[in-house]
Amino acid sequence: MKARVRYAPSPTGLQHIGSVRTALFNYLFARSVGGTFILRLEDTDRTRSSDAYVKNLYDTFRWLGFYWDEGPDVGGPAGPYTQSERFALYREHADRLVEMGKAYYCFCSDEKSAKKDDAVDEDDAAAAEQGATGFGYPRTCRSIDPAEAKRRADSGEPHVIRLKIPLDGVTGFDDILLGHIEWKNADVNPDPVLLKSDGFPTYHLANVVDDHLMGITHVMRAQEWIPSAPLHIIMYEAFGWDPPQLCHLPMVLGEDGHKLSKRHGATAVDEFRKKGYLEAALINYVAMLGCSYEDGRDIFSLEDLARLFSMDHINKAPAVFDYVKLEWFNGQYIRMLSDEELVGRITPFMVASGLVSEPPSAAQTSGLLAAAPLVKERLKYLSDAPEALRFLFAEPAVPPAAEMLPKKLDVAGTAKALDAAVELLGTVDPSDHDACEAAFRAKATELGFKLGDLLMPLRVAVTGTKVSPPLFQSIAVLGRDKAVERARKALAVLRAAI
Ligand code: GLU
Repeated sequence: MKARVRYAPSPTGLQHIGSVRTALFNYLFARSVGGTFILRLEDTDRTRSSDAYVKNLYDTFRWLGFYWDEGPDVGGPAGPYTQSERFALYREHADRLVEMGKAYYCFCSDEKSAKKDDAVDEDDAAAAEQGATGFGYPRTCRSIDPAEAKRRADSGEPHVIRLKIPLDGVTGFDDILLGHIEWKNADVNPDPVLLKSDGFPTYHLANVVDDHLMGITHVMRAQEWIPSAPLHIIMYEAFGWDPPQLCHLPMVLGEDGHKLSKRHGATAVDEFRKKGYLEAALINYVAMLGCSYEDGRDIFSLEDLARLFSMDHINKAPAVFDYVKLEWFNGQYIRMLSDEELVGRITPFMVASGLVSEPPSAAQTSGLLAAAPLVKERLKYLSDAPEALRFLFAEPAVPPAAEMLPKKLDVAGTAKALDAAVELLGTVDPSDHDACEAAFRAKATELGFKLGDLLMPLRVAVTGTKVSPPLFQSIAVLGRDKAVERARKALAVLRAAI
């Protein structure tokens, strides 16, 4: 049977690292076995779902560049793929369970317990877990005669539909990753609501009905959903359906061992995007959260990952999200870009910082192309580019004397060093780094300075900062005349301060 997997987000928040990891594993699995990857929008919680989050979902995955084969926007044979467009199906299936004696009408006007059962996200999953072990609904209406209950429901009396959890026995399943998990039915959340009094389905009903009707073969989702699994298995049994194979993915934790959250740093994909992470770096790193691919290797393209992905290589232990490692990945991916690609990537950041126009002029584009090699080895994020390249696109302020002083030189000594540096600059080819360095080193020795004493004031004068891309290359890109002009102005400031 061809594998069919789904990513089933509730659009109640921004796409974050954990949700992308779930989507990615499903995608990689589908690709690795020639199966189908489906997006299903679980928007049954009308108060918490929002169009802005749906838009964020589409934007995120368009940016990440791995996409579903079937979904609300691309269609497919099992649609509609948005749960709010499938309400009639859920009603029909809930009614069917009532007819089969597997579910019952409940007239207790306890919307709170209905709410608790509607585990639409991970927080609610935790609530459902509490429900599973705590004090759930006391099954008051379970004993109403079914014909009597039907008469009351048909006459318009407000009601919900609840699933009959067997009173004894056990319910279990074999998780692909975690092995056999089972619960005593007595410990399972007593009789969760499937259909609310307003006719809206709960997460459990919609999720099970859709997984079945959409032909889902494997469910890969976060471990937070394990407490929902017995309810779902009981529902599959009640319908007489085969459940999909379940695989609950390891948690993603922060360095302190707590579930990854905003406290640890950025978690929303948008934040990484704005900071200037490359999507390939993020995908590579997220794919490795709790899964291994090939020993001795860290860098994998999406195609590599899809080829190598195997559920056998998913770890049981939680994954720890390491921001430093992700930064390393990003640097690696930046280094792999061609100059043209890097320019394409940094241009929006240069535009946003006002250093180049929108669209950049031809001169700006060629300036960026010339500058790309200066920063390629050094950028951690694309958003570092404007600061690193500012001196090429804007005139830095002439630095005050104090800014230019090397550690052991006074103002007069610094003026002497800068004077020598400017003079020497006129005689060397700045694009030949090694020759420049040798000439500056020789001059420093001749004058009794250290190499840094000559370079530091020159660097501050030319780039406006103490930390810049390699100096001689920077001067070559800026133009030697421009550099000399800036250095002369700085020299005047030093001389005036003696
Ligand atoms: N809508 C649920 C979520 O937001 C889906 C959970 C599942 O995959 O069953 O994560």
